[in-house]
Amino acid sequence: MHIGFLGLGNMGGPMARNLLKAGHQVTAFDLSKPALAGLVEAGAREAASVGAVAGAGVDVVITMLPAAAHVKAVYLGEDGLLAHLPAGVLLIDSSTIDPLSARDVAKAAAAHGNPMLDAPVSGGTVGAAAGTLTFMIGGAAEDFQRAQPILAAMGKNVVHCGASGNGQVAKVANNMLLGISMIGVAEAMSLGVALGMDAKVLAGIINTSSGRCWASEVNNPFPGVLENAPASRGYSGGFGTDLMLKDLGLASEAARQVRQPVILGALAQQLYQAFSLQGHGGLDFSSIIKLYAQEPEA
Ligand code: NAD
Repeated sequence: MHIGFLGLGNMGGPMARNLLKAGHQVTAFDLSKPALAGLVEAGAREAASVGAVAGAGVDVVITMLPAAAHVKAVYLGEDGLLAHLPAGVLLIDSSTIDPLSARDVAKAAAAHGNPMLDAPVSGGTVGAAAGTLTFMIGGAAEDFQRAQPILAAMGKNVVHCGASGNGQVAKVANNMLLGISMIGVAEAMSLGVALGMDAKVLAGIINTSSGRCWASEVNNPFPGVLENAPASRGYSGGFGTDLMLKDLGLASEAARQVRQPVILGALAQQLYQAFSLQGHGGLDFSSIIKLYAQEPEA
């Protein structure tokens, strides 16, 4: 299969490499010359612009861009994909953006004769490199079937979530819950330790009781509880606070558009925002527990 790939950053670069490894032909473009050169070295063909990818005779185009503004520019812009693509080419956007923007772009693509899927991922850069991402797909069932073998080269779980935009709905709902539950675990762990409990013993109780969740069990925010969690290496690696902040912003914006209250989601967003402003945006989001740190006694 001949695949066009746009957006070769932390996620898109390794994803496109896995397509090459699976034997696909890839024609790629990125505004970053080093990112593009890296993929060309791995066997991809270089395109000189977004329009050049669209005109390269590709069967499918995959995009992995930072945010909705980039997605709209790449698909709908003057030199964008829709201005150059022949009808019938399948479009797959794996960027994390708000569901309504995803639906708007898919509608414009359909009017041009191009089926489109929203296909955001979870699994981070580690999953992107290992080819073990989870894809959450919104769009028509027959387009999902067409995309499945391609996405299988980059991911382990490829799930059809329903109509256009529903992949992004699944992604924002899950990540909003994750952002909230991490703060809950940070608060409970901090309270328990302040009241004299050993952090590991408390985590063990929570993880065999009703408070158990991914944030307590796999990514516990208290240092020393889990050897391999970011908390035990100064909150380096993992999922950055600013990326969590972006996803909570998407959830709040999507909620506003349908007038659905997200009371805890909005509060969580504000807490991560204040924390990011204090200079912690690059740390794993579990470092939000620092908000609860006690001053050492004088
Ligand atoms: P990134 O910033 O590393 O990469 C984005 C790439 O897009 C860059 O190389 C940039 O040059 C390129 N780009 C921007 N505008 C372009 C244009 N007009 N034409 C061509 N290329 C263009 O971002 P990332 O970490 O790879 O994330 C990509 C998406 O995946 C985001 O929506 C993010 O929220 C989502 N995501 C990221 C992670 C993660 O852990 N990094 C996990 C899940 C989902």
